Amino acid sequence: MTGISQKSRDGDPLEKFSGIIMETLRELNTRREPISLSSLTIALGRRADIVSLLRTASFDPKSALTTEGGGPSDQESPFNGKLKILQKQKEELLKQLTHLEEKNLQAQAFCRKSLLTLANLTLSSENCCYSPVLERFKKLLVDRGEMSELDHCLSELKDLVLRGREDGRLSKPHDTGIMGKWLKKSRTAQEADIKEIAEHKRLQNSLLSIIAEFHLDLGKDYLERFSNLQQRIRETTALHQLLDLSEEVTALVQDYLGLLNQERSQVTDFISEIGKSLIEMEANFMTSFNHASEAHRSNVDFSHLLEGQMEEIKKSTHMGKTLAEIRGFVASRITSIKAALETKRKEDQKRMEEMDTEMGALQQNLQNMKKEIEQVQEQSRNLEKETLLDPLTGIPNRRAYDLRIREEMQRYHRYQQSFSLLLFDVDHFKGVNDTYGHWAGDKCLKEIIKRIKPAMRECDFLARYGGEEFVVILPGTDRENSQAVGERLRQMIEKTHFLCKGQKIPLTISVGVTSIQPSDRDEAGLFNRVDAAMYEAKRSGRNKVVLV
Ligand code: GH3
Ligand code: MG
Ligand code: MG
Repeated sequence: MTGISQKSRDGDPLEKFSGIIMETLRELNTRREPISLSSLTIALGRRADIVSLLRTASFDPKSALTTEGGGPSDQESPFNGKLKILQKQKEELLKQLTHLEEKNLQAQAFCRKSLLTLANLTLSSENCCYSPVLERFKKLLVDRGEMSELDHCLSELKDLVLRGREDGRLSKPHDTGIMGKWLKKSRTAQEADIKEIAEHKRLQNSLLSIIAEFHLDLGKDYLERFSNLQQRIRETTALHQLLDLSEEVTALVQDYLGLLNQERSQVTDFISEIGKSLIEMEANFMTSFNHASEAHRSNVDFSHLLEGQMEEIKKSTHMGKTLAEIRGFVASRITSIKAALETKRKEDQKRMEEMDTEMGALQQNLQNMKKEIEQVQEQSRNLEKETLLDPLTGIPNRRAYDLRIREEMQRYHRYQQSFSLLLFDVDHFKGVNDTYGHWAGDKCLKEIIKRIKPAMRECDFLARYGGEEFVVILPGTDRENSQAVGERLRQMIEKTHFLCKGQKIPLTISVGVTSIQPSDRDEAGLFNRVDAAMYEAKRSGRNKVVLV
């Protein structure tokens, strides 16, 4: 049986063969397998119909060529012509298929790209309900997933869109739903893109400048966290991601500021403690060394220095410095205060040593002065004595009498302590001098006192009133007893043998006696009365006692 005989019964086997080839080529194309002779041969080998065709029709192009018409000469030419036409048709078809395939691929690529762009534009926080499906759709597009899967995804999206539209009619009919978004996007896409890029850039710069503002001194952890955020902000291209990052920046900054305030509070407490200690130290210094004016000045200077340093430390805590800067500043201030303290301590020590030396010298001077004062006082006392004593007889002189009689007068008028006054004068004493010489007269005067003094009471006051005239104050002695005293003195002098150069000198005294009376207002009146009594004794013969 030949191919021609087969054609007569089942149609043209070559056309059938061509149909099978075309079908196989389409299948290859559908499966996106490479279209080549080998792939076509393999694919054809798998087909049962072509095997059946070849078997039933005993179709063999080569045998057909040789058996048709019993030899090649008669049948070869028309068959070859047909074969060539078919081969040309086949090549033409293959060419068209390749072209179609290319166009198909281009169309697919365009569709996938367009869909991806639309999906990206649509994917935002406002469409969160579509996001998972859109993401899956995008992934399928990128991974060149099966059309069936893409179709399934699109169906899901369609359902969501329709649902969104239904919901949207109730609230925002123009903006809800993916399709609405897409339509809106397509109308203002270019404008929105420009705005979004500008907004993105502005936000990015703002976040980066916020981070750059911080002088990080809180350790590696914060440094790494801020660096990480900086890196992510720089790399981010989507605005919504930047918004998320801005929240992270805010949280981190708040965290950082909290820690900073905590540290600053600790430093403030620390500085406060130092301040208290320094003020205590200063108070001790003030207590120890405030006795000298120079030390006081030094303390005032030191106090000002200390206050200045403390003021600077306080200021530094309010100037927004970092912890390390504050610590460094405080340490340097403490060092300078320590240095000032040491200098002050040395100065005070030196000053104290100098003061000790000066104090020793002053004490020595004081002792010397004290001795000198005592000597002067002694001399003064002696001089005073001398001025109140009679140098010849050694008894109080008239000056001493004047003082004493004034005291007695006061005592009398204040306490009514009465006293008597006795005045005696050596009779004819001029004659003694003239007869025996002045020296003998002196000796007689001394001898008279030597005799009289022991005869007086302890409280009696004997004084030389002048020349050969003597006065006696007799405290607590009335007129009569005073007269008796005068009499006793007169007798004693009368009975005494005054010898001078072997010669006996007779001496007598005339005595006047009186007592204080309430009418005596001054010393002179009292004395005049006793003086008158004594002259009365002279006038009446001398060697007498007259009482008035
Ligand atoms: P009458 O009895 O009246 O007191 O006579 P009188 O000579 O004592 O009195 P008059 O007043 O005339 O003389 C006193 C004399 O006493 C004169 C004087 O030289 C002498 N006389 C006074 N004081 C001293 C003295 O201290 N030493 C000596 N040697 N003589 C004295
Ligand atoms: Mg006389
Ligand atoms: Mg006389």
